[in-house]
Amino acid sequence: MSETNWAGNQTFSAERVVRPQTVGEIQEAVVAAPAVKALGSRHCFNDIADCPGGVLLDPSALDTAAELDAEASTITVPAAARYGDIAEQVHAAGFALANLASLPHCTVAGTVATATHGSGRRNQSLASAVSAVELVTADGELRTYSRGDDVFPGIVVGLGALGVVTRLTLDLVPSFDIRQDVFDGLPWESAYAHFEEIHDAGYSVSMFTNWARDEIDQVWVKSVAGQPGPDFYGAKAADGPRHPAHAAGIPADNTTRQLGVPGPWHERIPHFRLDFTPSVGNELQTEYFVPVRHAAAAMEALRGLGHRLAPVLLTSEIRTVAADELWLSPFQGGDRVALHFTWQPEQDTVRALLPAVEERLAPYGVRPHWGKLFHQAADYPRLADFRALATELDPDGKFRSPFVRRHVFGER
Ligand SMILES: Cc1cc2nc3c(=O)[nH]c(=O)nc-3n(C[C@H](O)[C@H](O)[C@H](O)COP(=O)(O)OP(=O)(O)OC[C@H]3O[C@@H](n4cnc5c(N)ncnc54)[C@H](O)[C@@H]3O)c2cc1C
Repeated sequence: MSETNWAGNQTFSAERVVRPQTVGEIQEAVVAAPAVKALGSRHCFNDIADCPGGVLLDPSALDTAAELDAEASTITVPAAARYGDIAEQVHAAGFALANLASLPHCTVAGTVATATHGSGRRNQSLASAVSAVELVTADGELRTYSRGDDVFPGIVVGLGALGVVTRLTLDLVPSFDIRQDVFDGLPWESAYAHFEEIHDAGYSVSMFTNWARDEIDQVWVKSVAGQPGPDFYGAKAADGPRHPAHAAGIPADNTTRQLGVPGPWHERIPHFRLDFTPSVGNELQTEYFVPVRHAAAAMEALRGLGHRLAPVLLTSEIRTVAADELWLSPFQGGDRVALHFTWQPEQDTVRALLPAVEERLAPYGVRPHWGKLFHQAADYPRLADFRALATELDPDGKFRSPFVRRHVFGER
């Protein structure tokens, strides 16, 4: 099969992709296939969405529509809905999603399955907004799990290993406006000394660096209330729009509006606009999470590798994510700082570097992003419970792809 992921670094080795139009067709396809996996918008950078020799189920043609319940402040969406698509409907009804990732192009199911996140000291991952999941399991049954069910925290970040999600219900909050201001040149000393203050200074804050320059290139501050002054912890207000990889010469054409112009949540929280290719396009990504209390030490450790990282980097982003209790969420058990790398598309060089990066971050209890390139998965306190859940729902292992076998079941 010649189909690839978004980045083009992963050619799927499944036998075929099928696009069911009804939940019944999903149920039939799951029962019939010995190996099967659901596919989202393919924005992951590793083989998490692959299913060698089996069937990839793409639910984007499903005949279900999003249903907003204003009284309950929720929206129930089809698995393959993209955040950018549902945002307009949510906003028009006077609501918002509490947070979004840097791009609005990913499906809700794929985003949630991998614990995708945005930024903000008080903002949890996007998976934390899920209050119910409808899932076709290996026996073809359609099951619904809701917040409060014992296994619900295991179901949500499911890595595609538990079944095919058909619908999800998401919590909504009242709609809000937000502005984004970009600052150039934050001294490292400020970042070390005031890390939590800086990340508390906005609803969502991101820093961008290549780890080798003697200051942090940019800080993006997205504010709901108030506005940052022209001097932000020693960084200066940018004189024009910036791309996160501005220092690598990338123009800001695909970014959401900056320069402090207020706008609706869904047009400011993502860095990139829905109608453009997000980020740089020709790239790879990696991301690691360590507890926020280790932010300064982890940044210092990465600066020590700056001479090896910078030649392969387009940019690197530093964010924060609030704690949750989802079993396989990297944010399970405590607030984390997210250390993201947007790499040049040089997979061999990147893969060769990752063990060194992970070794530097190992003292801080590092966990990698499930959907990006990494070398070694983390241990999780509830990993054994997740394995038991996956085995109960899928005793013959039809959803147990090589990625799941390696990183969840510890097989070689
Ligand atoms: C340009 C760019 C920017 C990004 N920015 C961010 C960011 O800001 N924050 C962040 O955390 N991540 C970010 N990512 C990573 C991205 O959000 C995740 O990789 C996300 O999982 C992609 O969702 P997807 O729909 O493409 O899923 P896919 O890559 O298609 O699949 C991911 C996993 O979800 C499972 N899955 C998908 N649909 C279903 C379903 N219906 N039922 C069961 N399982 C399913 C798949 O089996 C697979 O295991 C970025 C990626 C790119 C390319």
